[in-house]
Amino acid sequence: MASTCTYQFDTTIYKGAVTFPTQLFINGEFVDPVNKGTIDLINPATCKAIARVSLGDHEDIEIAAQAARAAFKEHWGLKVSGEARSKLLHKLADLVDANTDQIAALEALNVGKTFHAAKAMDLPITGSLLRYYAGWADKLQGKSIQTTPDKIGFTRHEPIGVVGAIVPWNFPLSTLIMKLAPALACGNTIVAKPSEFTPLSALYLCTLIREAGFPPGVVNIVPGYGDTAGQAVGESMIIDKVAFTGSTLTGRKIMEAAARSNLKKISLELGGKSPSIIFNDADVDQAVKWAINGIFMNQGELCVAGSRIYVQEGIYDDFLQKFTESAQCLSVGDPFSPDTFQGPQISERQFKRVMDYIKSGQAEGATLRLGGERYGTEGYFIQPTIFTDCTPNMKIVQEEIFGPVAAIMKFSAEEGALIFHVPVGNSFYGVKEVIEQANNTTYGLACSVYTKDIDRAMRVASNIEAGTAWVNFSNWPDLGLPVGGFKQSGMGRDLGEDALENYTNVKAVHINIGIKI
Ligand code: NDP
Repeated sequence: MASTCTYQFDTTIYKGAVTFPTQLFINGEFVDPVNKGTIDLINPATCKAIARVSLGDHEDIEIAAQAARAAFKEHWGLKVSGEARSKLLHKLADLVDANTDQIAALEALNVGKTFHAAKAMDLPITGSLLRYYAGWADKLQGKSIQTTPDKIGFTRHEPIGVVGAIVPWNFPLSTLIMKLAPALACGNTIVAKPSEFTPLSALYLCTLIREAGFPPGVVNIVPGYGDTAGQAVGESMIIDKVAFTGSTLTGRKIMEAAARSNLKKISLELGGKSPSIIFNDADVDQAVKWAINGIFMNQGELCVAGSRIYVQEGIYDDFLQKFTESAQCLSVGDPFSPDTFQGPQISERQFKRVMDYIKSGQAEGATLRLGGERYGTEGYFIQPTIFTDCTPNMKIVQEEIFGPVAAIMKFSAEEGALIFHVPVGNSFYGVKEVIEQANNTTYGLACSVYTKDIDRAMRVASNIEAGTAWVNFSNWPDLGLPVGGFKQSGMGRDLGEDALENYTNVKAVHINIGIKI
């Protein structure tokens, strides 16, 4: 039976020990699951087991949901001031900051992301998210609305109740906090299900939640499989809302489960196939660096990854050469080495999935310019991979790969006649405008545009169907700006003030000051 795990990290960049319970965290206690289920976690860099953690099921989700409902009524919700909620979130942020090295080490061990990236990005974002929403906890406001002279009307933004958070494995802690922080700030309680592959940082967080002093039941964390525990969150009649990040396929299942059960509210942050469009007048060296960051960051396991790169013909050769050289220099290997840029893919399933996409690119006629092979002999490492001569309907251009695979395409001419170069035999001929091609996808999560012409930047950014448009950079979230998808990339927004809408109900209050019947 899983109960605690201890890690003694003795790496060149982090030496230290972490010990924490690996059971379910329900009603402020670490408890065994009803059916005593466990799962063995794997270090994706070595394929060796690293921990056995408890695995919750339907019944555990229901127990957690009941605890969250009771906490909502008794200790949280409208019972606690925004200031009190804010203080607790600030306390948790301080504890996360004080444990940055420990949590970054757990993320590196469990996810395969590099320790230094986790420390420099995931953890600072996590602390800042907690503080950002702590700041909102006492600033939730409705409006006073003038209607008729004998009536006063105003709105209140009230918590929804019990929020179910289902989060993926690519940014286990920061995606969890992206839901947890605004949900708690608005007065909701939480039942969170981390990915079955990566529950360690969430379990460690439970020890900090206890230390911060949150009342029991306000936060409940139940690791479990998606099709059992995850499905139970979607189907629960006690849970009032589900906030989800993950694949479009699973997003659809959650929507169905919500419709079948209590019509719970849902917000979905789903997949993407984001275009990077690089014009002749761009700063090529900067564009290369940002495009590399866009697709290869976090092993390519990034919903906003700039996986389709459209380059204008005047700089195409220069860009391609520099992009290839830079990708060749990315060091792949031990997530705990200070020089490593790219770690392993999360799991054997994901490794095979990415390798299958690489094979499909070759089979469909794209030119493999770089990589395409497993890296090393142990762990789920894949070489940074570049395809050129890609055509619009290839799977590698249409589908989310979620790995270190870039598809590069050339376009020519100016707006109004942006011509695509599609190889047909040995010749090229123009077909469609680049914006039309960039929008030729079921996804609509993000895009990047590289140009020194501000008019063009604005025009392109506003014509791409995506929830985020970066101009002259990529993959740089800002906590104050919302993220989310157009089309099948999701609904609702994370981050910024917009995220608060996911976690509140608006109530209209009408006060009669003179109407007689
Ligand atoms: P999933 O969408 O399956 O997983 C995301 C979360 O949903 C996990 O916690 C998972 O649990 C859970 N889940 C799975 N099935 C259900 C269900 N029926 N009801 C409720 N929750 C469920 O992503 P995968 O791990 O399968 O990855 C597949 C692909 O999804 C990736 O290759 C990528 O394309 C995309 N993806 C996108 C992400 C994003 O950030 N937008 C993040 C992760 C994946 P468990 O892990 O335990 O199965």
